[in-house]
Order: sequence, then structure tokens, then C-alpha cells
Amino acid sequence: MNDCLFCKIVNGDIKPDLVLENEYVLAFRDINPQAPEHVLIIPKKHIASLNDLNEMDAPVLGRMYLAARQVAEICGVAASGYRTLINCGMDGGQTVLHLHLHMLGGRSMHWPPG
Ligand code: AMP
Ligand code: ZN
Repeated sequence: MNDCLFCKIVNGDIKPDLVLENEYVLAFRDINPQAPEHVLIIPKKHIASLNDLNEMDAPVLGRMYLAARQVAEICGVAASGYRTLINCGMDGGQTVLHLHLHMLGGRSMHWPPG
């Protein structure tokens, strides 16, 4: 997926503000943060969106959430709380077609979301 922005981050063409990396995922700071702590957790494997997730990919989501938990610890928001979310498709507000989990913290979140 040469034209995928987040694949370019995975293969090193674009250097992110890295928070965590392991065999399965990368976590880096969002370029346009919506909270004091805003980190994106992405699988190293290209999966375009939640709609493209298949049975074989199920463990990847577990790895993403485990990483989000670690990221929250690293960012110092594990105790105060944080929000994780995945936008999917146009109405979901997805702008980058490589699956990513947002981790937002450091302020009180609103509900319902906008
Ligand atoms: P979404 O709208 O859910 O698809 O989220 C995409 C997110 O990627 C947005 O919050 C953007 O600010 C963020 N983003 C776009 N380009 C970059 C980049 N080069 N590095 C870090 N975050 C980015
Ligand atoms: Zn990709």
C-alpha cells in the first residue's frame, strides 16, 4: 500500500512522534491533537478500516487495545481516565484509510460525542 500515509509511517518513510512500538503495532502522537494527550495506535499490517477486518485479524484488535492501555500509562492518564475510539467510514469521520485507535486523555471528555 504505497499510497497509504500510515503504511509510510510503518515502513519508516515518515517519522512519527513515537510513543510505543512492538511486533504488531505502532503508537504515535496525533499531528492535530484533540486533547492534551492524543495518540494513534495502528496495526503494522495494512487494514483499511473496521469494515475490512476479517476473522484472521481479530488478534490485531486485542494488540491495539493492549497497546492503548500501555500508552495511557506512558502518557500519565491511566488513573485519571481516557477515551479510546475508532472512526469508520465517512459518517464515522474516518479520514485516514488505515485502521487506527485513538487514545485521548488529559481532559474531561464530553458525551455524546460530536
Ligand atoms: P480519523 O479522522 O479517525 O481517520 O483520524 C486520523 C487522524 O490522523 C487525525 O486525527 C489526524 O490528525 C491524524 N494524522 C494525519 N496525519 C498524521 C501524521 N502524519 N501524523 C500523525 N497523525 C496524523
Ligand atoms: Zn496502510
